[in-house]
Amino acid sequence: MLKGKTALVTGSTSGIGLGIAKALAAQGANIVLNGFGDVDGPKAVIKALGVKVGYHGADMSRPDEIAAMMTYAAEQFGQVDILVNNAGIQHVARIENFPVERWDAIIAINMSSAFHATRLALPAMQAAGWGRIINVASVHGLVASAEKSAYVTAKHGVVGLTKVTALENATTGVTCNAICPGWVLTPLVQKQVDAKAAAHGLSNEEAKKLLLGEKEPSLQFTTPEELGALAVFFCSPAGNNVRGVAWNMDGGWMAQ
Ligand code: NAD
Repeated sequence: MLKGKTALVTGSTSGIGLGIAKALAAQGANIVLNGFGDVDGPKAVIKALGVKVGYHGADMSRPDEIAAMMTYAAEQFGQVDILVNNAGIQHVARIENFPVERWDAIIAINMSSAFHATRLALPAMQAAGWGRIINVASVHGLVASAEKSAYVTAKHGVVGLTKVTALENATTGVTCNAICPGWVLTPLVQKQVDAKAAAHGLSNEEAKKLLLGEKEPSLQFTTPEELGALAVFFCSPAGNNVRGVAWNMDGGWMAQ
């Protein structure tokens, strides 16, 4: 379905980003990966799906490096047809104790990076008459949890940016939508499981159950594969007129 298209997925060396990159590659899209840590492993996984794969190590907190990544993608692949703004980090602390440096980093990586990549990707999408921008927000783009001030602020901002991007392109073939996962068991969430285990003297399994039980009625983690399938739907012809939604996949978190 996506043969000949190119998808750039930020923060795709791990977790949800890698899951979405795999799902888009399975539909035939060439992939530009981004993120830190192991790069060869994720590259090999995408290559095995029979598509072209590139990588740019832009630090998504830096607008100049985001611009260099977009230039790299255009030079190597022609253009970016699908942009998935996914890179993100977390820090948990009450507002009065929240490190200013962590606040700035979360706002830059989780929110402002989506603005920069979007503003740089849009002109080519508009010229082509087709494009998909998918912002990986969170249920925390829709509701709050204590001790996550920067994250909740950034994710609400991403949901707002999604709506504006969708509206400004509403009469074109360029759509923009957000995905709002509940708990997904990635390294980002494992750190929170570890913190619960340490705080309450629990095993890993007990801490996972406690974490899920606080917020997610299904008591199950959403998987990167399930989120990848939703991204594929947004890219399908059935998604042509889906514009500006914030679609939660959250085991009932938002239904409460
Ligand atoms: P993860 O830690 O597995 O992956 C994060 C990715 O972002 C990695 O590839 C990492 O290298 C990259 N990254 C981090 N800082 C970066 C930077 N400065 N520049 C470039 N890349 C950077 O986490 P994840 O859970 O897969 O999170 C992905 C997205 O999903 C995030 O935006 C997160 O907020 C969101 N999300 C996660 C959950 C969850 O439960 N895991 C729930 C809702 C939303």
